[in-house]
This record gives sequence, C-alpha cells and structure tokens, in this order.
Amino acid sequence: MKHTCILPEILAHAPALQAIRRDIHAHPELAYEEVRTSDLIAQKLAEWDIEVHRGLGITGLVGVIHGRTGTRSIGLRADFDALPIHEHNQFPHASQHPGKMHACGHDGHTTMLLAAAQYLAAHRNFAGTVYLVFQPAEESHGGAKAMMEDGLFERFPMDAIFGIHNWPGLAAGDVAVRSGPCFASSNEFRITLRGEGCHGAMPHLGVDPIIIASQLVQAFQTIISRNLHPADAGVISVTIIEAGDATNVIPETATLRGTVRAFTTAVLDTIENRMRELTHQISAAFGACAKFEFERRYPPTINHAKEAEFVRHTLSEVLGSEHVHVFEPTMGAEDFSFYLQEKPGAYFVVGNGELVDHAKPNSTSNDTGKSSTDHRPAGHGLGPCALHNPSYDFNDALLPLGGTLWVRLVEAWLEN
Ligand SMILES: [Zn+2]
Ligand SMILES: [Zn+2]
Repeated sequence: MKHTCILPEILAHAPALQAIRRDIHAHPELAYEEVRTSDLIAQKLAEWDIEVHRGLGITGLVGVIHGRTGTRSIGLRADFDALPIHEHNQFPHASQHPGKMHACGHDGHTTMLLAAAQYLAAHRNFAGTVYLVFQPAEESHGGAKAMMEDGLFERFPMDAIFGIHNWPGLAAGDVAVRSGPCFASSNEFRITLRGEGCHGAMPHLGVDPIIIASQLVQAFQTIISRNLHPADAGVISVTIIEAGDATNVIPETATLRGTVRAFTTAVLDTIENRMRELTHQISAAFGACAKFEFERRYPPTINHAKEAEFVRHTLSEVLGSEHVHVFEPTMGAEDFSFYLQEKPGAYFVVGNGELVDHAKPNSTSNDTGKSSTDHRPAGHGLGPCALHNPSYDFNDALLPLGGTLWVRLVEAWLEN
C-alpha cells in the first residue's frame, strides 16, 4: 500500500484512529443494540464541533458539517453493527462480548468515516453540506431502511450517497467500483411438507416427506440451469432441512429453508414462481401437502452510472488508476441497496489485504518491504482474514487512507 496520497494531518491521527477502531472491535454490539458504539460516535463528533442528530433507526445517527458556502450536499455512510460470531482471535483488542464479533469490519468503516469527519470539520474547505450517516443493523436487519423510515432523506436532503466496504483478498488500499448491479438481492424461503407418518419398516402405509424434500432440492437446481436465461445469474441454496426424530419412524413433516440471490427483479420473479410451482406439483404428485413461503429481504445493490464513474475518476486521481479496479459483482447482499433505490450514489470496496498469512515465495510486498499480510496482529485466530470468519480483523493501515479517500470524494463533489 502506498502512503503518499494520505493527508498528513490524518496520518498524524493514525494511532488515535487505531485506538478507536480497536476499542469498537473489543466491544461489539448486535443489530439495534449498538448503544455504546453510538454513544462513542456521538461523543467524538461533538468533540470536533459537529452537529449530531440521534435516534434514526433506534441507534443510528447523522453528523452534519456545513462548508463555507454552497448548497450542494453529499451523504457518506458507515455501518457499525457486529455479528453473532464467537471470535477466535486472542489479541488484546479481541471481543470482550462472547458470541459477538466485528467480523465484517464495520468497526473499520466507522473509524474511517470518523477520520474524515475530524478533518472535514476542522477545514470546511468545500462548498455545501456533508451528512455523515452512521448506520446500525446492516447484517440482516435492514438498518438502512430503518433510518430512511425515520426520515433520513427528508431531514438530511443529500444529493447523493456513497458507501465503502473493506474487501479481503484485494490488495490493501486498492479500491474497486462498478456501475450497475454489484451486490445481489437477498431472499429467504421456508417450505413445509406434510406427508403421513408411519413405521420406518412399512413405508407403503404412509407418505414420506423426506423423499419429497430430496426431490425438491434437486428440482430447484434445474431452475438455474433450465429456466433462467443462460446469461443471467441466480443462486438457490437449501441450507436447512429439518425432519424426523427416530431412525425407525417416517415423519409427518419436513421443512426446507434457504436463500435465493439474484441481480434483477425479473430473475427473482422467475425463481420464486418456479420454486412455488415445483413445490406444489411435486408434493401433489407424491400425495403430500405443501406450504410455500418466500420473503424478499434486501434488494440488489445497483450503483448509479454517474456516481460510480465519479468514484472511479476521483479515486484514480488520488491513488493512481492502477490501484482502481472494476468490481466483480458478488452474490453477497448489502442494505445500502435501500438508499440507492431513492438516491443517486455508489457503493465501492477498499482492499483489506491478503486472506492468509503464510508468505508465499512470490507474494507481493508493500512499501515497507514486509509481506502484505503483516496487517494481522500477533495472536490472530489462524483462520483466513475473510469477512464473517472468526479469525477476521480489519486492517488498521486503511484507517488514515479511508479517511483520506472520503475527504477527497467530498472535496471533488462539493468543489468550490
Ligand atoms: Zn457482513
Ligand atoms: Zn459488512
């Protein structure tokens, strides 16, 4: 990672930023329970003379920084919730709350935005208003939507909104962005099959729901291979099957649950409709009843073309175009999608560095000459430094860089 583009004033705060990030990491809080984290953010913003508005989406908050002149505005979003994961890392800033962990780097996202906030409030060298959106409950609980329902865009009328996620596996400090769909929609299904229970040795006297469940798991995969246009992407994963209590009993019921991912509503409609047809008709063919439930959770994250290009262009000037990549779409989901349904904007990623530590003979080196995996402090959990892994940790070297990227985007968007 090159440090030459980092604003010296933010770089000087690197130790303080690391302390904030590690403090948040040590005290992870789950969706809508992030009271301590929210208090910490509010206290920092107030310390830097930034107007703070609390209570959007329960624990969410917005900081407002006015520039010297101007009427344009920009929203910058950081999420701050943790995951229900038991951390394997043993270093001093490991989670002090068993079963909860910052395994997605939201501690880092929050601290990068705080780094920018401190700088922007001290200089106000831009024309317009910066809205700092600190969001709770990104992981499965739709904190973005909750903040919008509490009037985020009415109370803080931003022209566009931007968000960053750290990205393990991408070189530390490189960024990636793309126009159009980048994260998939996230949807859940639950299928309850009711057959007829009987003795495991006398299957002809009942209707076996496990046989039907097995048929459905197979049949669903034909939706991807035989119903979708070959150029369209979709995922159906049956991740939970529940049936039976005894080896000599064919149970009455079986339940299938899982996730469906797609980038467009048309593809999602096809998948949902075909899953429903297959469920009812295969069940009927075997003499069973079925209940089919499908819930659409996060919509796809679709970057707006002009704003994605703005990010690519601006960050190319800051980092050098060789450090700005085209983001490869992922079937992961992100509730930033709700913002992009109402506002122009773009979501992009910054590389967190290598996933594993074992130095390969030809592994890349950073500008300190050390292995690019050195960001992981001693005592990490030996697993990969991957999102949602119990051995993950955010790369602290990104804190001043991320703060700088936010400042540069603000200055370019709200140019005097
Ligand atoms: Zn996550
Ligand atoms: Zn995340």
